[in-house]
Amino acid sequence: MASPLRVLIHGGGIGGLTLATALARRGHTVEVAEIRDELDALGVGIIQPSNALHVMREIGLLEACLAAGFEWEVLTIADPMGNELARIPQPRMDGAPPNNGIPRPALAEVLGEAAGAAGARIRFGTTVAELDDDGTGVTVRLSDGSAGRWDLVVGFDGIGSPLRTRLYGERYAPEYTGFANWRVTVPRQAGVRGVVMSTAGQEAKALLTPITDELMYLGAVFAEAEDFRPDPELAHEELVKRLAMFSGPVAEALAAVDDPGAVVYSRISQVTVEEPWHVGRVVLAGDAAHASTPHLAQGAAMAVEDAFVLAESLDAAPTVPEALEAWEARRRPRAMWVQALSRAVLKQEMGAETTPEEDELLKIGVPGAAHVLAKPY
Ligand SMILES: Cc1cc2nc3c(=O)[nH]c(=O)nc-3n(C[C@H](O)[C@H](O)[C@H](O)COP(=O)(O)OP(=O)(O)OC[C@H]3O[C@@H](n4cnc5c(N)ncnc54)[C@H](O)[C@@H]3O)c2cc1C
Repeated sequence: MASPLRVLIHGGGIGGLTLATALARRGHTVEVAEIRDELDALGVGIIQPSNALHVMREIGLLEACLAAGFEWEVLTIADPMGNELARIPQPRMDGAPPNNGIPRPALAEVLGEAAGAAGARIRFGTTVAELDDDGTGVTVRLSDGSAGRWDLVVGFDGIGSPLRTRLYGERYAPEYTGFANWRVTVPRQAGVRGVVMSTAGQEAKALLTPITDELMYLGAVFAEAEDFRPDPELAHEELVKRLAMFSGPVAEALAAVDDPGAVVYSRISQVTVEEPWHVGRVVLAGDAAHASTPHLAQGAAMAVEDAFVLAESLDAAPTVPEALEAWEARRRPRAMWVQALSRAVLKQEMGAETTPEEDELLKIGVPGAAHVLAKPY
């Protein structure tokens, strides 16, 4: 589209801030309504694989992400004692590095500063109160009392997306997989220069992921009852029990935890919006539309790809509705493939029964998937 658009983004997380930067740099008027009072992402880390780093490069943030994180190239598989079993080099997309581990708060800061510098306005402590789409624009009243008219409203409001509920009711509420992730940030061990995955067969698997020169995080997934929530004071003890079969680096990482409350427990859920991701001029993206299990480290990567491709689609199409059609046609197949494979990997790793379709998908393997995902989005 030749003329600048007015775009309201609901949610200032990883996808929303990437979109705000990409659109504001193109001269569009962008506001972000973020319900939190500041960009205080959870204090654990995240992996930016090559396709996510490629998007960061496209919006001029690759160097900032690498400076705030820890670039790595090889995935190491180890036994429960930490002895190396295999080294798997990671692919790179069109010159972007293979992977970057980064603390979530540092990534939020990089993205928030870029969005602001590009001219996007972030309204903290704010959410959509009323929304009326008349076909030619969307009139929105925010919870701070302000009102505006927008050419497009984008719901990048995460797995629990209130905008999704507004559009589709409870039809696509998050579905709990039966598994949960335990994570804790600890000092980086000198030998952890890329992800080290220690496996004790299907009993347990523990990942050490470097996120800065000084820090790494320990992550592990276990089957947990849907209503289970660890007492924060006992969370470390619970994790130690679950990882009792590990010695070496994993045990050392557990021993380095000095605050039991630092252990972050996240239930793993999935969302698949099967109807079109847009209703009129309101569109869902990222986890709001297609949250997947973390087993390919691709959820945020899909969110930033969604954001960048949406900005490109708005450039190329003559109208907003046509841009949304073209965007979803590009995004849905890739995001759904990631979601299906990621869930199949979770089930395989946890010894759960897989379907024939999942067995077929699993033939590619995680390294194969990384190669596919390092091809253009
Ligand atoms: C254990 C675990 C590990 C993971 N590891 C990785 C990894 O290594 N690599 C990777 O790529 N992905 C990973 N992911 C997935 C990744 O975190 C998500 O896919 C990604 O954050 C989705 O981005 P998003 O912008 O769609 O949503 P989010 O980043 O969740 O942002 C949503 C934003 O919307 C805001 N919001 C919510 N409600 C409202 C409202 N009513 N009004 C206004 N704002 C609102 C929230 O406050 C938040 O800021 C992991 C996920 C989990 C659970």
